[in-house]
Amino acid sequence: LLQGPLLARWNSTEASMQKEVSATDLKECKGFKGHDMLAPFTAGWQTTDLHPLVIEKSEGSYVYDINGKKYLDSLAGLWCTALGGNEPRLVAAAAAQLNTLPFYHSFWNRTTKPSLNLAKELLETFTATKMAKAFFTNSGSEANDTQVKLVWYYNNALGRPNKKKFIARAKSYHGSTLISASLSGLPALHQKFDLPAPFVLHTDCPHYWRYHLPGETEEEFSTRLANNLENLILKEGPETIAAFIAEPVMGAGGVIPPPATYFDKIQAVVKKYDILFIADEVICAFGRLGTMFGCDKYSIKPDLVSIAKALSSAYMPIGAVLVSHEISDVIYSQSNKLGSFSHGFTYSGHPVSCAVALEALKIYKERNIVEQVKSISPRFQDGLKAFSDRPIIGEIRGTGLILGTEFTDNKSPNDPFPPEWGIGAYFGAQCEKNGMLVRVAGDGIFMSPPFTISPEEVDELISIYGKALKATEERVK
Ligand code: PLP
Repeated sequence: LLQGPLLARWNSTEASMQKEVSATDLKECKGFKGHDMLAPFTAGWQTTDLHPLVIEKSEGSYVYDINGKKYLDSLAGLWCTALGGNEPRLVAAAAAQLNTLPFYHSFWNRTTKPSLNLAKELLETFTATKMAKAFFTNSGSEANDTQVKLVWYYNNALGRPNKKKFIARAKSYHGSTLISASLSGLPALHQKFDLPAPFVLHTDCPHYWRYHLPGETEEEFSTRLANNLENLILKEGPETIAAFIAEPVMGAGGVIPPPATYFDKIQAVVKKYDILFIADEVICAFGRLGTMFGCDKYSIKPDLVSIAKALSSAYMPIGAVLVSHEISDVIYSQSNKLGSFSHGFTYSGHPVSCAVALEALKIYKERNIVEQVKSISPRFQDGLKAFSDRPIIGEIRGTGLILGTEFTDNKSPNDPFPPEWGIGAYFGAQCEKNGMLVRVAGDGIFMSPPFTISPEEVDELISIYGKALKATEERVK
């Protein structure tokens, strides 16, 4: 079914499948020798066979390529440009900080005002549990790597050297450094990288549509998953399990909101065995779900939180870990004995990133971004879910301003289309042709537009989606 270079552009976890696809027709690309970047999440053949899509400019919810073509950026970069592509206040905040103090570090109790102010602001903003400290990183992956080190340090300090294992979930995405890729539950992140690390265990993916048993309600499904988690903990020995990590809504693994009562039941199990709960809020934080944090939406009471992406609306790289009083107290007393808490990055608390993040948080509050997302999201969710009955769609799912579509045959999770048909890739190519960028992963399509998307832009997004769907259906007939 597939032909043409557009079809093969899509980064997906099924890179090998796309190799076959790309071989079908790349005549237009002959002579292109590839570029010089070893590109992230990109197959080698893509950079040698295809011209990359080079983005040059952004404006509101849109980006422009080097040929001047305009695209509605339905994924907000990588789920991150929350305030759109040209928020002048963020640019001004960066420029002002660059002109005052472009860099100073935060090691050895030296630091800068923007990092202190941002830490204070974050602790005030996160209210699901009372957090004591913020630790700064450059990315979500570094935040999750830091989580593991904090938890190990904490358990070593408490004299529990065996309580070191982490439980994450199948299909989760927590980043791509060695440890965060280990926590992630996506096979492509492990294959040929000698991962996951042996201290990581994976429990069930909470995707009701795909994994529920016949006749099982969402609540019963959640109970079964909580029981499975408990059985895993008992099998491994509760004294060996240090922490459980979860995204409130799974993002890159498929946009999977939790089934009813899931987090209540999971938290009860985790608490019972003295296991720390880490909320990976890298995608969900700051309004994406129509609440300030995913923890607020699902009544999650975490011990540790990872944030990044919308923290600076992606204008500067920054991530953070929020740490509970109990954990930070133990870390302080242990580091007093050892001489220092020897973990950190040159750019932990980079003043320019912190200044931009502070301004982003200010804007979220001033413009009541949570209410804005709440009021626009029914138009987005209902408009797209209206396509749910179409024959090639298995499921459309999402909440707030995040949504995933899965193409399957017979509306069944058990009837995927043959991978060589490249249904998702074709749909993505049709979106691109019609002026919209979406995320394609196999036959999954993900969207998470900027929080600032207007009603007219939502209508445009839905209209392009509809056109791409119609074209895809015609190919499948
Ligand atoms: N955690 C989640 C939930 C993510 O979605 C991501 C990135 O998409 C990460 C962690 C990793 O963040 P980064 O790419 O900034 O390292």
